[in-house]
Amino acid sequence: MTKIRSICVYCGASDTVDPQYIRLAEQLGRELAKRDIRLVYGGGGVGLMGACARAAHESAGEVLGIMPKFLLQKERIYKDVEHRIVDDMHTRKQMMFDEADAFIVLPGGIGTLEEAVEILSWARLGLHAKPMAFLDEDGFWTPFFDLLEKIIQGGFIPEDFRQAMVHSREPGEAVDALLDRVVVLDL
Ligand code: AMP
Repeated sequence: MTKIRSICVYCGASDTVDPQYIRLAEQLGRELAKRDIRLVYGGGGVGLMGACARAAHESAGEVLGIMPKFLLQKERIYKDVEHRIVDDMHTRKQMMFDEADAFIVLPGGIGTLEEAVEILSWARLGLHAKPMAFLDEDGFWTPFFDLLEKIIQGGFIPEDFRQAMVHSREPGEAVDALLDRVVVLDL
């Protein structure tokens, strides 16, 4: 089976969310640790980001956090894991992309959406073939998938772009789906 070494997780940084989302982030962190997959994430100690990273770390998983200088205080960098402090958001996003074999998107806000859509746009441009799973238990991402269907039906992106992403309800299912989709590069 294809081995995924690192998964980048995009998720909300807000602490004022329904606790069900925090629990899902923790479950995902534990799942990645159990499977010996490194978590790459934005480096913060807040919201779903912090919950996922702490759970992975406390389950003896490998974690890499990447944080831009200007967010050090706001997102309360989680120092117990390996972390890199970079100059700006652009460098953070590029490094998160480079360090990951695949992506999981948990519920989140504008930042989460922007990061996920940027990676999808790079896939659309043929710049990479790293797969992406959207993970929720409550259909959080369903309206996004509905919009993508509209976009496909409208002819704006080809039908086979559906292969670039999957909608999963459970952390193990999301990781399995990514394993199925990872392209083995013949180098
Ligand atoms: P949010 O989903 O808005 O709670 O943000 C989640 C993460 O995305 C946080 O670590 C933010 O720093 C990050 N973020 C916010 N805005 C952007 C952006 N324009 N591009 C990339 N990441 C962002």
